[in-house]
Amino acid sequence: SASADASRKRVLLAAPRGYCAGVDRAVQTVERALERYGAPVYVRKQIVHNKHVVKTLEERGAVFVEENEEVPQGSIVIFSAHGVAPEVHDQASQRRLRTIDATCPLVTKVHKEAVRFADEGYDILLIGHEGHEEVIGTTGEAPEHIKLVDGPEGVAQVEVRDPSKVAWLSQTTLSVDETEQTVAKLRERFPQMIDPPSDDICYATQNRQVAVKRIAPQSDLVIVVGSTNSSNSVRLVEVALEAGAGSAYLVDRADEIDPSWFEGASTVGLTSGASVPEELVQGVLALLAEHGYTDVEEVRSAQEKLLFALPHELRRNLKES
Ligand code: SF4
Repeated sequence: SASADASRKRVLLAAPRGYCAGVDRAVQTVERALERYGAPVYVRKQIVHNKHVVKTLEERGAVFVEENEEVPQGSIVIFSAHGVAPEVHDQASQRRLRTIDATCPLVTKVHKEAVRFADEGYDILLIGHEGHEEVIGTTGEAPEHIKLVDGPEGVAQVEVRDPSKVAWLSQTTLSVDETEQTVAKLRERFPQMIDPPSDDICYATQNRQVAVKRIAPQSDLVIVVGSTNSSNSVRLVEVALEAGAGSAYLVDRADEIDPSWFEGASTVGLTSGASVPEELVQGVLALLAEHGYTDVEEVRSAQEKLLFALPHELRRNLKES
């Protein structure tokens, strides 16, 4: 095993890791809006769930608010990557806010699936984490007909109008394996349940889980860089432990690492969530090097080339200027 040779300290760096196309687009949206309109630019909720990103944008003049009511009438407000319920758009137009919607297109896809299933008379079993912004936004598309199922334990309680007319959807950032278990349990209760037209768990979530699974079995310790409110980052810790990592921790940045974690660890695995800038991973690599982990091997399980165009509101406004 890796720990047999404690003198050889190495790092297995998972790839893909870090920014996904939806996060990249959302962060760029705020940056472009600041350039175009000047500070302040209001952002409803954290644009992406990463402390460092939010702080950096705040320093440049973004003002993060919880709700539209906090935005002065007539101002610009950006909606975060996680998506919003239709009523949030309605409130914004009542306040005459100028909105730029940075909802990830892969979240919008799930919203559209929800609307279609609801229109066709289905009850929708939405697998996701209670209180997560994405779940709140998706549920807002058809609040009467969407039932939240928070993991396999949530299956028994769920109530529907007609057990023969149900479909399931999911949050984009769940554990692939746990979601399969939840779906299997749901199907036991509702054998006629309809599947989503395509995967709701997004490519980035899936790729990062596959990548951490590749390095976890050989890692005495896995460090996941990400914020505690980042669903996909928290999942990476769970997936690493499931896949056999000796231990696994979530840190926002290198200075949250407790050096006692390195005791007896010859191989350290490292990855980062979809909202995490690469510079934070580089900071952890620098700290690892100080502790003798200088042998770094990147283990890549997929190439990612997806890029999303900026929100159309912003593209139109940029052209006008
Ligand atoms: Fe979009 Fe997936 Fe990134 Fe979320 S994690 S912003 S759904 S690509």
